[in-house]
Amino acid sequence: MTHNLAKLVFWGVRGSTPTLERDTWRYGGNTPCLELNAPDGTRFILDCGTGLRMLGNQLTQALRGQGIRAHILVTHFHWDHIQGIPFFHPLFESQNHFHFYSFQSKSLGPNSLQQVLQAQLASPYFPVDVTMMTAARDFREVTGGEKWEVRGTRITAAWLNHPQGCLGYRFDTAGGSIVYATDNEPGVAEFDQNLRQLAHGADVLIYDAQYSPEQLATDRKGWGHSSWLEGVKVAREAKVRNLILFHHDPDSPDKVVDSFLSAARQEFPATWAATEGMTINLSERGVGVAIRESRLGQRRRIRFNATVTGQSEDGTAFEEKATVRDLSLQGAYLCLNSRPRLQSEMRVVIEAAGDQNRSSVLSLRGTVVHFDLGREKNQNGVGVVFIEDPEPGHPRD
Ligand SMILES: [Zn+2]
Ligand SMILES: [Zn+2]
Repeated sequence: MTHNLAKLVFWGVRGSTPTLERDTWRYGGNTPCLELNAPDGTRFILDCGTGLRMLGNQLTQALRGQGIRAHILVTHFHWDHIQGIPFFHPLFESQNHFHFYSFQSKSLGPNSLQQVLQAQLASPYFPVDVTMMTAARDFREVTGGEKWEVRGTRITAAWLNHPQGCLGYRFDTAGGSIVYATDNEPGVAEFDQNLRQLAHGADVLIYDAQYSPEQLATDRKGWGHSSWLEGVKVAREAKVRNLILFHHDPDSPDKVVDSFLSAARQEFPATWAATEGMTINLSERGVGVAIRESRLGQRRRIRFNATVTGQSEDGTAFEEKATVRDLSLQGAYLCLNSRPRLQSEMRVVIEAAGDQNRSSVLSLRGTVVHFDLGREKNQNGVGVVFIEDPEPGHPRD
């Protein structure tokens, strides 16, 4: 059975500047870029942060040789929303065609986005100039309140409250409705109303939740951003079905985003925190959220019993006995009589205590990252990070 399926993919969710800190990897460090595939296959790209580079590589690979077409909507010209453009390889290939939409900046005047592209690739900031961008490009300047249609998808733009201006966009597709409203500071009646009107009844609202409510009320007032609490208010007042917290602060480690999400869920259960690689499917059947594989460590098949406690989809707590089927391991610390060389390879074989059949042996290849001479009872402390193993000790699923 065919049904109208719209698919949204998050390629960048971080606000302001990309992050590479390890404590931000789980939500992701690339700046804003979303891909929306309408049910008829029309592709929209929302914002051009650093996530755009990965989307470009994925499109090039998936559509090998075929021309890539997309409608690219830019919310505003701050760095984090445009800095991926020079690294979007499909722009440098003549068989591709892109339709850009953005607004006319007060300081740049007509053809603002063309000027931005030229400036980004100008000397001495980039090795090649804009003439190397051989893909066909056309540009349309839109404004708040404007509505238009692209192959069956209705788009509405609305002004948000942000320094130098920012547009929020709504997409009404045959699969469902999505509102992308990032970079907005609440508290100005006109814009607050714009946002509620734009978001009214939407299946999915993606909203700026950069700061905590406390930060927003004090030292971050006037920076043009919002909080999870404001997101919850908008979601309730506009009768939105699902709220996605977006534009995470570069100085927010994963555990801070976790805390925003859990606070928001207390107030509005259908809330998610935008995560790099997250997908949202919208159809007559409803909205489905999925997160791509995020375990980085090597996986090893193993069976042992565990008691698992957690929270069900409906918010109730559960506890059950279960079997762990595989484990991914990042590294270990052990005590040795030997003195392994720093950055040399090592193999560690772990046996589960009391396992006569050796059925739960874990064989792991690692690289030594730490060495402590005589750390414990004359043995040396050794840190190891497990690495890709071409011949794992056990077959995988
Ligand atoms: Zn931003
Ligand atoms: Zn901004």
